[in-house]
Amino acid sequence: MDSTVMRTALAQLDQALFSHEQWSEAIYSTLICRLPPDERDVDRDAHRKCRFGQWYYGSGSLTLHNHPGFVEIAVEHERMHQFAATLLRASTDNVPISLHDYERFVAAMKRMRLEALTMKRELEDSLNNLDPLTDATNRTGMLTRLREQLELVKRGVHSCSVAMMDVDYFKKVNDTYGHGMGDQVLAAFSRYVIAHLRPYDNFFRYGGEEFVICAPNADLATSQGLLERLRVELASIPFRPEGRPPFHVTASFGLTLLDPDLSVEQSIDRADKALYAAKSAGRNRIVVWTPSML
Ligand code: GH3
Ligand code: MG
Ligand code: MG
Repeated sequence: MDSTVMRTALAQLDQALFSHEQWSEAIYSTLICRLPPDERDVDRDAHRKCRFGQWYYGSGSLTLHNHPGFVEIAVEHERMHQFAATLLRASTDNVPISLHDYERFVAAMKRMRLEALTMKRELEDSLNNLDPLTDATNRTGMLTRLREQLELVKRGVHSCSVAMMDVDYFKKVNDTYGHGMGDQVLAAFSRYVIAHLRPYDNFFRYGGEEFVICAPNADLATSQGLLERLRVELASIPFRPEGRPPFHVTASFGLTLLDPDLSVEQSIDRADKALYAAKSAGRNRIVVWTPSML
């Protein structure tokens, strides 16, 4: 997800949460003042009819579908509406509301808010950790994320590859076309990679024109395939400096798997050694780390 998409999603989530708060205030006044309930709130599909539900089940939330907490919000939101409908029906039937019914409504609402606020916080954190030029996650967030992956690798949950990517002859791009053009190349490369990785892959700006790609649940062969496609496609992006012929830029990659017996830093070091080998072998290629590179 790039930063513009993320900002839009965040603003909409914020708006949806505000609508939800308004809804809960209306429910309380309906119950306390014994007002006739809104028909939509006693409907079986009440969770789809409120403004929060319209956002959640509408196309506006599409970009958040891959977010881990997204499904959890729906579960609690739907339960909360079912419990609210029970309270409203009791109120219109003039039956006293049981403490149990009231408490389970409040509990579901709290859980739904917690899920939604957690997702909001995670989106804000991701946004704060983005490098402004490239939209890649900056180094600050990288080690934390890689250490989480390392824990999963240690527990045998999955393998996870880590690759170091470095733009080839980038100094020459700056020297020939200017720093501004260099920036454009970095931004274009980064945007391309972000758009073409799987949703759960991670892309970090390690520094300058060096990036780290972390692909959870990928073995070496899968990762090599993924990087090979990226390598070919990045090399085919045309850059068009004013008044001069278009040019192309390539990148080199060093690849390894996160090793459960090593620290994250040591695995990155292996990827770096493989990258160095890719540079020495002529650039514009992917090299997998081997023990001989120690
Ligand atoms: P190699 O193929 O061996 O990687 O050669 P290279 O020229 O890409 O590598 P080198 O490390 O010599 O140069 C990297 C250059 O990247 C030097 C630095 O000025 C430039 N650079 C680093 N960050 C940025 C940036 O944000 N924008 C621009 N335009 N240039 C940057
Ligand atoms: Mg370089
Ligand atoms: Mg470099």
